[in-house]
Amino acid sequence: MALLVFVLGLLIGSFLNVCIFRIPNRETIIYGTSRCPHCRNSLGALDLIPVISYLVLKGNCRFCQSPISWRYPLVELLTGLIFYLGYISIGELHLLIKYLVLFSLLIIISFIDIDRQLIPNQLVLAILVWGIGWQLLAPELSWQQSLLGAILGGGILLLIAVISKGGMGGGDIKLMFAAGLVLGGRFTVLALFIACVIGAFVGGFLLATGIKKRKEPIPFGPFLSLGIFVASLWGEQLIQLYLTGSGLR
Ligand SMILES: [Zn+2]
Repeated sequence: MALLVFVLGLLIGSFLNVCIFRIPNRETIIYGTSRCPHCRNSLGALDLIPVISYLVLKGNCRFCQSPISWRYPLVELLTGLIFYLGYISIGELHLLIKYLVLFSLLIIISFIDIDRQLIPNQLVLAILVWGIGWQLLAPELSWQQSLLGAILGGGILLLIAVISKGGMGGGDIKLMFAAGLVLGGRFTVLALFIACVIGAFVGGFLLATGIKKRKEPIPFGPFLSLGIFVASLWGEQLIQLYLTGSGLR
């Protein structure tokens, strides 16, 4: 079963690639065949098997031999791995569905943010609609917890934005507001904490190695997404570990 979930993740990852590529260009994600971005030849089913097509074609387009970005198999593998980890960490099927949809949207957001330093509103809206819909139809969180998550998620980042005079983008604030609704208060705060710690380390590393120049923006969406992912899967254990370690329990 775990293998099946991993393969499902690979297939969804293939669709997420399409979304990452087309949403910023305002192209439809539902119609239209996949084409090679270089020669515009339509790709057939055999060219679109996740990861395997890339390996069989040795990373080149079948028609024009242009190199295919390694990002495609990377996103597919990443999605497969995230689905697999979700499956083995979240016991209940209904919660698994809630989080796998959230994670899929976050993968699209993260890569668009890396490419363009922006988080499209329609994707934030999708998370918001998912969160509200979930609260209406299949809630395991109280509305108070859910709204607390949204207010804390958006509020803390808004505060950071005000204090740092623009060090935090509007997209990040909106994203954490929407994700907070899905996560609830406890996990939202934990997700923000994880995102800031990892963001500080990676940001420091990128500056120290000269990969990024000072003043060059480092997208925060991927760190928020990582924080949300870790908090969703292992939040309860991390909070217990902290309480035990700090002698509070
Ligand atoms: Zn081509």
